[in-house]
Amino acid sequence: MSTLDTASTQPANFIRTIVAEDLQSGKHQTIVTRFPPEPNGYLHIGHAKSICLNFGVARDYSGRCHLRFDDTNPVKEDVEYTESIKGSVRWLGFDWGEDLYYASDYFGQLYEWAEHLIKAGKAYVDDLSAEEMRSYRGTLTEPGKESPFRGRAPEENLDLFRRMKAGEFADGSKVLRARIDMASPNINLRDPVMYRILRATHPHTGDAWCIYPMYDYAHGQSDAIEGVTHSICTLEFEDHKPLYEWFLTNLPVPATPKQYEFARLNLTYTVMSKRKLLQLVQDGDVAGWDDPRMPTLVGLRRRGYTPESIRTFCERIGVGRSDSWIDMSTLEECVREDLNSSAPRAMAVLRPLRLVLENYPEGEEELSIANHPQNPEFGTRNIPFCQELFIEEDDFQEVPEKGFKRLTPGGEVRLRGAYIIRCVSAEKDADGRISTIRCTYDPETLSGRSQSDRKVKGVVHWVSARHSITAQVRLYDRLISVATPGGDDWKGELNSDSIEILDSARLEPSLAEAAPEARFQFERQGYFCVDAKDSAPGRPVFNRTVTLRDSWGKK
Ligand code: ATP
Ligand code: MG
Repeated sequence: MSTLDTASTQPANFIRTIVAEDLQSGKHQTIVTRFPPEPNGYLHIGHAKSICLNFGVARDYSGRCHLRFDDTNPVKEDVEYTESIKGSVRWLGFDWGEDLYYASDYFGQLYEWAEHLIKAGKAYVDDLSAEEMRSYRGTLTEPGKESPFRGRAPEENLDLFRRMKAGEFADGSKVLRARIDMASPNINLRDPVMYRILRATHPHTGDAWCIYPMYDYAHGQSDAIEGVTHSICTLEFEDHKPLYEWFLTNLPVPATPKQYEFARLNLTYTVMSKRKLLQLVQDGDVAGWDDPRMPTLVGLRRRGYTPESIRTFCERIGVGRSDSWIDMSTLEECVREDLNSSAPRAMAVLRPLRLVLENYPEGEEELSIANHPQNPEFGTRNIPFCQELFIEEDDFQEVPEKGFKRLTPGGEVRLRGAYIIRCVSAEKDADGRISTIRCTYDPETLSGRSQSDRKVKGVVHWVSARHSITAQVRLYDRLISVATPGGDDWKGELNSDSIEILDSARLEPSLAEAAPEARFQFERQGYFCVDAKDSAPGRPVFNRTVTLRDSWGKK
């Protein structure tokens, strides 16, 4: 298959169209994209959209995608973030090969290019304070005012800039600015700052520098140094594009990347900016960046999301140029579909109610149950069955509501994979709560026996009281209770029911040895995975990934 054939099997989008045209016309022989995270937080599902786009395009058109850390702000950056970002990109299924870079690798080159602009009279050292600079900048409707330092001669600027680098001036006392146009209708072109003085230890360059380049100056030049052909970013950078191009035009760069913008992902019932996610972590609203309620990739992973389901989601939502909200149910449906085919079934009783079979003999038997209803390749497992079982508390109603099809006094249900039982009586404890259900079973209704085809309305899941294990199961729900949070009071919109911890769930014994991150469908309940952090050998803790059906707001 040729490159273009491979690509045509992927959903089309305008970026792919541009790339295909650039290859066809011979503008580029091969393409290079990059994913450029700033290592100041963990990656979230929005980043996944950018990763799938950048790495996906490179893969499908036989190009390369670089992973480049845009580490120009040492104050907020940390190696913890760098490592986690690498882990998340790999987990999503993408590989940068040898192409791992840091903008800080280019600090030397960027500095030389800054001197180049100074010598050409296109950059100057400014002594205005941050506040003065702001007031000189003008507004969308009014032009800016030129700084009194704008007229400094190149020699003076060069001397001052070198002394900035040498550490002669205090933090914040001077900046280097590009000399473009204070009257430009595009505020980004009103002499943007290129360098600031900042005494901070950088995770990569240590204390080698006390001046650091601004993102806008570093980004395009880093693209050029790496030979990036298509620099794909989100729409908020559209207004920065003229500046991106101004630097490339005015510097002796080895290549001229082109910037293309697409709409960022907004997902309902969550927040996505790293600033807000960090606030949730710092305020203790969640248990960390990898709390299963977080929209971070580490959080989604811990919740039980598969990389496949996230890639499917990114494909399904497409890539366009208009901002919109994607409903959380779209993401949930992707993981449901994936797990429906890939997760083995298991029985777990989340809120146990004791059930005794009065006519079942002493002892026990092993019942063979299929691990997947549609896929025989998943095999079967044996589950112990005996006189005393647990069923789900809400699978019994003493006074059944209309339409209730499960167990009621005198009524019959089938125990999944086992017998039909009939309820004889219900016992209550001192508080009037139902404590035990007494039933009889019909031995002929087991699969393969004379009455196995007998139909009853309800089927309920169960576990053996004696053999099942007790486990903690956490039911997670959406983090935010309103669809499109965003106002200043977004913290007031946190969903107070986003986690429910059940400490006495009972699981079929086979689950005792489930491996960290193993995923299951708990019959009739939803999809669950073994928490990789809090489980111990033989003592799994389960996280609910998603319910079986979309039940948000329908409770
Ligand atoms: P945030 O605004 O969430 O803090 P960011 O844009 O500051 O994110 P970066 O680390 O700078 O985070 O982002 C790396 C790349 O991921 C950028 O190219 C950015 O455009 C892209 N990206 C970030 N958020 C989204 C999103 N919600 N949808 C799509 N792409 C995104
Ligand atoms: Mg950013």
